[in-house]
Amino acid sequence: MDINGKVAVITGGGSGIGRATAVRLATEGARVVVADVDQNGAGETVACIEQAGGTAAAIRTDVARPADITAMLEFAEHHFGGLDILHNNAGITTGDPGYPNAGLEQWQRVLDVNLRAVLLGTQLALPLLRRRGGGCIIHTSSMAGLVGWPPDPIYAATKAAVILFTHSMAPFAAENVRINCICPGGVNTPMLQRARQSAREKPPEDLPLLEPAEVADGVVQLVADDSLAGRALLIGPGLRDFAPLPGQ
Ligand code: NAD
Repeated sequence: MDINGKVAVITGGGSGIGRATAVRLATEGARVVVADVDQNGAGETVACIEQAGGTAAAIRTDVARPADITAMLEFAEHHFGGLDILHNNAGITTGDPGYPNAGLEQWQRVLDVNLRAVLLGTQLALPLLRRRGGGCIIHTSSMAGLVGWPPDPIYAATKAAVILFTHSMAPFAAENVRINCICPGGVNTPMLQRARQSAREKPPEDLPLLEPAEVADGVVQLVADDSLAGRALLIGPGLRDFAPLPGQ
């Protein structure tokens, strides 16, 4: 897909990977809707894009609320005339206390943000993409979804589910809707800084980290390459490879 002139919506666009992707897609000529539960963060991303001469708009969105996802997509249609690219990127960890000490409400929110919002965002975006004759959806999964993450089993479970959801949606390429996901290793973002503060979630000190812009580059690869559908792109320092499809 030629990104220039397209409309992109990015959840969790107010920080980290989402911000870097929003900035990168705008640089490539997309008009960008920055959706985030943190309105200030979303506003800062829009300011970065506008300062660089790009076009963007912010909307406060809690992806755990179905009505907010609907409003976010309507905003893209009303503001920029449609939708071509959806980046389901917002994500959270379980935090303290971890599973199994966390109560149901605490870990249910991780399911709602990291998984249900991805399933629902995709479901609600499909009619908009069809109206444009096709488009792209990219989910942010994680390496944790492939190899597990003992400090946060709920997080790992949501990210694994996103990968198999992605593989299972490959046939939508027949109607020109390509759905892929990105699986980063450790990325230098506020999420990782918070994990470093937690004795329980702390990643190893010597874990090599990616910068958010490197993940954004992987997202752009998934959007730009029309041959990719249902794929999970693994990205880490010195690593960029596709997970094998089930059965391969
Ligand atoms: P981050 O905390 O810097 O950014 C996440 C953004 O999502 C924040 O702006 C936050 O306000 C927003 N957000 C959280 N809950 C939301 C909700 N309910 N509705 C809307 N927005 C919400 O973290 P990040 O590292 O940039 O993470 C982005 C994605 O990348 C997540 O899905 C995360 O799981 C994934 N990921 C991160 C790493 C890493 O090491 N940082 C590695 C692999 C995958």
